[in-house]
Amino acid sequence: MANYYVNDNAQSNGDHEVHKEGCSWMPSVSNRTYLGDFSTCKDAVTEAKKKYRQSNGCKYCSPLCHTS
Ligand SMILES: [Zn+2]
Repeated sequence: MANYYVNDNAQSNGDHEVHKEGCSWMPSVSNRTYLGDFSTCKDAVTEAKKKYRQSNGCKYCSPLCHTS
């Protein structure tokens, strides 16, 4: 299990990236929302989509959930 966060600021393509705790691309505290403790990034992205319809896994910490 790991803590996941979603970036409150969208990327240039409109995606809100989902990060796993410890990722070096983690947004600062004021720019992220805690999603919860999940066993897979897939569950984290599903949760993120409740807040931001266009959510995507981070390419670095959640490559299995990253689509481009
Ligand atoms: Zn990341």
